[in-house]
Amino acid sequence: MDFNNTKIAFEYKSNYQLKRAYQLFKLMGNHFLVNLGGIFTNFALKVNLPIRTVIKKTIFDQFCGGENVNDCELKIKLLAKYNVGTILDYSVEGVGLKDDFQSTVTEIKKTIDAADNSLDIPFSVFKLTGLTSFSILKAANDSLDDLNSSQLFEYNDFIDRVDQICSYAVEKNVKIFIDAEDSWFQGSIDRVAEQMMKLYNQKNVIVYTTIQFYRWDRLGYLNDLHAKCKADKFKIGIKLVRGAYMEKERAMAIKMNYKDPIQKDKLSTDNDFNKGIDFCINNLNDLSICLGTHNEKSCLYLIDLMRVNNIDENDSRIYFAQLLGMSDHISFNLSKESYNVAKYVPYGPIKEVMPYLLRRAQENTSVAGQTSRELSLISKELKRRKLINRI
Ligand SMILES: Cc1cc2nc3c(=O)[nH]c(=O)nc-3n(C[C@H](O)[C@H](O)[C@H](O)COP(=O)(O)OP(=O)(O)OC[C@H]3O[C@@H](n4cnc5c(N)ncnc54)[C@H](O)[C@@H]3O)c2cc1C
Repeated sequence: MDFNNTKIAFEYKSNYQLKRAYQLFKLMGNHFLVNLGGIFTNFALKVNLPIRTVIKKTIFDQFCGGENVNDCELKIKLLAKYNVGTILDYSVEGVGLKDDFQSTVTEIKKTIDAADNSLDIPFSVFKLTGLTSFSILKAANDSLDDLNSSQLFEYNDFIDRVDQICSYAVEKNVKIFIDAEDSWFQGSIDRVAEQMMKLYNQKNVIVYTTIQFYRWDRLGYLNDLHAKCKADKFKIGIKLVRGAYMEKERAMAIKMNYKDPIQKDKLSTDNDFNKGIDFCINNLNDLSICLGTHNEKSCLYLIDLMRVNNIDENDSRIYFAQLLGMSDHISFNLSKESYNVAKYVPYGPIKEVMPYLLRRAQENTSVAGQTSRELSLISKELKRRKLINRI
């Protein structure tokens, strides 16, 4: 497996697109510009300055599929040409209003319909924070015992919405991920994800939960979840990730004076991530997994385990996934070698996906090495195409 093969990695990008990606990552490497750009863009969109076209042709096109499901068709087909699947990710963040919750259900059902109608979309995905208020998720995080009657009413409404989505996914036989979020919601998310897996994963894995290994308690949770699956006779689907909210988690732990839920350092996260992979491969008869990572070593680690255990590259229980616009060298080289790969393809109206885009920009500024890795691969390909000697 050669992740440095940039010809394969960027074959789907035209010269123009590749040059534009280079400029974008270069810009995102600059803290000052990213922060300033974020403030300006939010302001400009609020007062309707004509910057939509610029955003659409640059950062939106790099990281998003389109403004609605139909808009994503071109990107879906393009990825599929290289055997990379699409996971349509409705990236509009809820503002906690009741009307929004049911419209989120409707939107996620559209992604399930799209997956039902296409071999190029192996999964759907949704976030539970789009389906109820933050206050309910927080109140229910440890247990349901302390909810008052009106909270319980709201909670049951929420479960009903989750069930509408999951039962629809079962009806259409479309696998669906439940994303992991902040630890102050994750107790609620785990409970609901388990409930849905128990209900709908009796024979096959349809519902997948997500485990964040930047938390020091998650290996234990994985063991417990597996024990429940054995006892209650259901299968588990797991998206394994490191976790996206580290800074927020650490800050909240300090502010509220509780033990930091995050591992003490990156190495501890990496070690638990690997142990999580080991555990899943050792119990593959009971579960299916998706490795959601941009880390080359983690992908190689899983590939190696698959080889040692004589597991086919395209075994349907194992998927790799990256985000659109990032780590193409991993996605396209994996698919070339027949591994199952998919990209999260975020979509939504430009104004509403701006928070997602700004997070991508900030992540690419803050994740040490990520931007420079993207930049060095893109410039290697630009040189290979003889488009530059230097930029
Ligand atoms: C397809 C896909 C789906 C995803 N779904 C989710 C999701 O549902 N929920 C979610 O939270 N995230 C999700 N993520 C994001 C993911 O959790 C990571 O934030 C991101 O992928 C970066 O981690 P990495 O494994 O790619 O790479 P790396 O660059 O190797 O790891 C960076 C990660 O390591 C951890 N880390 C860094 N420094 C430290 C430190 N000092 N101490 C402890 N840990 C540290 C953090 O988690 C950080 O994000 C998803 C990512 C992908 C690709």
